[in-house]
Amino acid sequence: GHVDQQCDVLVLGGGPGGYSAAFRAADLGLNVVLVERYATLGGVCLNVGCIPSKALLHVAAVMDEVGHMADLGVDFGKPVVNIDKLRGYKEKVIGKLTGGLAAMAKMRKVTVVRGYGAFVSPNHVQVEETTGTSQEKTGNTTTIGFQKCIIAAGSQAVRLPFMPEDPRVVDSTGALALKEVPKRMLILGGGIIGLEMGTVYSTLGARLDVVEMLDGLMQGADRDLVKVWQKMNAHRFDNIMLKTKTVAAKATDAGIEVTFAPAEEGGQVPAPQTYDLVLQAVGRSPNGKKIAADKAGVSVSDRGFIPVDVQMRTNVPHIFAIGDIVGQPMLAHKAVHEAHVAAEVIAGELKGDKDLAAAAFDARVIPSVAYTDPEVAWVGLTEEQAKAQGIKVSKGLFPWSASGRAIANGRDEGFTKLLFDEETHRIVGGGIVGTHAGDMIGEIALAIEMGADAVDIGKTIHPHPTLGESIGMAAEAAHGSCTDLP
Ligand code: FAD
Repeated sequence: GHVDQQCDVLVLGGGPGGYSAAFRAADLGLNVVLVERYATLGGVCLNVGCIPSKALLHVAAVMDEVGHMADLGVDFGKPVVNIDKLRGYKEKVIGKLTGGLAAMAKMRKVTVVRGYGAFVSPNHVQVEETTGTSQEKTGNTTTIGFQKCIIAAGSQAVRLPFMPEDPRVVDSTGALALKEVPKRMLILGGGIIGLEMGTVYSTLGARLDVVEMLDGLMQGADRDLVKVWQKMNAHRFDNIMLKTKTVAAKATDAGIEVTFAPAEEGGQVPAPQTYDLVLQAVGRSPNGKKIAADKAGVSVSDRGFIPVDVQMRTNVPHIFAIGDIVGQPMLAHKAVHEAHVAAEVIAGELKGDKDLAAAAFDARVIPSVAYTDPEVAWVGLTEEQAKAQGIKVSKGLFPWSASGRAIANGRDEGFTKLLFDEETHRIVGGGIVGTHAGDMIGEIALAIEMGADAVDIGKTIHPHPTLGESIGMAAEAAHGSCTDLP
């Protein structure tokens, strides 16, 4: 058939995976086309994910902090929220970042094609052009030929089949739209996304319920970290329903009436409840089945994931895939690192550079952060995982009640924990709960990547008085020579 343009690399999807791959490939001298159905680059992360959620969480954290300040001797009074202005602030943050991406694409001469892309052959993608702020189709199509392709089409929120179509039932995108603050809000799914959005709405005045199938909130993190968060956040919740399923819901004038059932036989059945807003945050499903991957011969799993090797290569050697669409953890920093690997392998192969062509994803660890208040951050093995894998670990723990800085901040509820392999003495994991935990977890990730032991970390001079100092202190605690600097 007719081919409108030809490129070295076609990148399908303009999220953190897609734009990072496109930029790296262009920097390595390749001719790149980036296909994105929405008006702006940045994908879920910049438009309806990481960034807008953090803009709102920042505001919520300041509001909560101001609330505590009366105890410290300064009373600011009750905050007055202008929700339109707050929404405007969030939009401005997004606009700054997506505008920056558009400028960077232009600077690198990456051709951005706006539309919905799908494979028509192993070397061609057809794009149905879209326009406006959504995915309205213009009726025009473009066919683009490529030598190599990187699939970065991401994921979207899972919808429970029995949830009514109603403006009072939203996913994270709907919650971030911040239309109004409900009186009673149900969060379906006690993971990071649900709890972050819950934090924002509760600070703005909503009462929260949360329902979770498993036996604890914030799965993936060690329970001792989560316990501190839960204690500090108990005031936000009316009901925390664990080991509980949502089985039915109906829209009434009074709200969304939701019915629950125990996740295990013999469990307790919570009474049905009526909510002004229900947030579905029960996970995200990959977009693998929506790009006609079969036309290119690319394998897609039943759940819509695209299997890849360590070079991010699919079963079709010249087609790669990265980001949420290749598997867990669905995190932006994972997508970006995978993107660089795929772009480098491709550039190496097209330009005959063996070193570049040998690039591979070999990160030992990928950190996770819940940007709640306090934050919960973890990386590498948790205590539970070490136990399950039969790895004996020694633990170094530093409670923030002994940190001068945390006490001065009036926020000493946190702690820093490091886990060392008893045989090799190298650090294998760590977790932090407390303010700014997310900003500090990178140091522990670096220590794991570099194979540091407790002495390396403990003898590294950290500035005093900082929260980051707690990492050095935890390492010292692990090898039993705790200094007494508060
Ligand atoms: P996406 O960001 O999903 O991008 C895929 C892009 O492809 C989209 O722009 C989509 O429009 C486009 N696309 C899809 N199909 C087609 C097609 N056929 N044709 C053209 N274009 C197409 N991660 C973190 O690391 N930290 C956080 O704090 C964080 N917070 C989050 C908060 C929320 C509320 C949510 C929902 C997610 C959050 N995430 C966070 C996860 C993060 O957003 C994702 O891991 C990340 O965006 C994945 O990047 P990606 O490039 O794989 O896919």
